[in-house]
Amino acid sequence: MTATLFDGIGLLYTGDPEREEIQDAALLVEDGAVTWLGPAAETPGGADERVDVAGRAVIPGFVDSHAHLIFAGDRTAEFQARMSGEPYTGGGIRTTVAATRRAGDAELATHALALVREMARQGTTTVEIKSGYGLTVEDERRSLELATALTDETTFLGAHVVPEGVDADDYTRLVAGEMLTACAPFARWVDVFCERGAFDGDQTREILTAGRRAGLGVRVHANQLGEGPGVRIACELGAASADHCTHLTAADVDALAGSGTVATLLPGAEFSTRSPYPDARRLLDAGVTVALATDCNPGSSYTSSMAFCVALAVREMRMTPLEAIRAATYGGARALRRTDVGWLRPGARADLVVLDAPSYVHLAYRPGVPLVHQVFQGGLLLQEDIQNPPSVVVL
Ligand SMILES: [Zn+2]
Repeated sequence: MTATLFDGIGLLYTGDPEREEIQDAALLVEDGAVTWLGPAAETPGGADERVDVAGRAVIPGFVDSHAHLIFAGDRTAEFQARMSGEPYTGGGIRTTVAATRRAGDAELATHALALVREMARQGTTTVEIKSGYGLTVEDERRSLELATALTDETTFLGAHVVPEGVDADDYTRLVAGEMLTACAPFARWVDVFCERGAFDGDQTREILTAGRRAGLGVRVHANQLGEGPGVRIACELGAASADHCTHLTAADVDALAGSGTVATLLPGAEFSTRSPYPDARRLLDAGVTVALATDCNPGSSYTSSMAFCVALAVREMRMTPLEAIRAATYGGARALRRTDVGWLRPGARADLVVLDAPSYVHLAYRPGVPLVHQVFQGGLLLQEDIQNPPSVVVL
């Protein structure tokens, strides 16, 4: 077993609420996990090798708790039309469904892997992946089976949209019955797009309750396009996360504050649909745990960059840089009910991002700039496309 000491860390953002920032820090990794971290002056002995990050900032790997990566096709034209003044309705999902059903397994798997790698290069070391572009028993099942090769955090989203020409109640029964049975072995979570034009409160409750009975954790696409019952159902059913939360009533905020449900904000969607952003301040001031995620999908938010979401959160949602980095790491882990990622402290997985910057604040201060210098996952350097291998000194 090799013990690796990371030192020369100008500023360590840990994600651990008990000690979030350490100046002039060092961190010890053994067997893929953090075993010690603290001021460099207090570094214990016993390291076999040393990685000097030369004064750069280090943060935990981003936890992207909301992404739709199993799909085929392209919706450039829809984006172009929207940016020329047409409103977002959610109807374009059906375009992706048609392309996904036509695609072979290898095409879907290769494309999703490319997106996961694109994310990793940008510092994302944990990603959740949803189904939801199949909408038949077999297409949802195979989407999830392909996703299990890429992450442990797989989510059954058969209830993404009601397929063309199908009765919504009939489809709800299919999702909560035969489709759930086929998909549950490949899923950790169940999710529903609870929205006018997608699934109403009763349908949402039926599917989530069935998912929970099948042993899946609950998460909900809630209150994206307008007010509705999604957030309250999420809290009532003990969901790990209510995602979007763009249109909230006072009762919704109270429900979130009084529950263990995280509010996951997806500002890439508001950016890409030119819509008003969620009121993050109202949630934070009420004491709600907030996460940030990309919602990476071909229709409403085709970004894989957590750093971009951090910048949007700071500039457009008035989160402080500290609140935004916390939401992108610790918050995302809470939204997936994970305690091994999203923070750096003894026992946590050694998922580290070394920034070409003196502070995490640069993620918002220098928007759009590729600041990720190196990414370590479980203590191992992600080599692919990284131009700067670390200089490891064997001690
Ligand atoms: Zn989504």
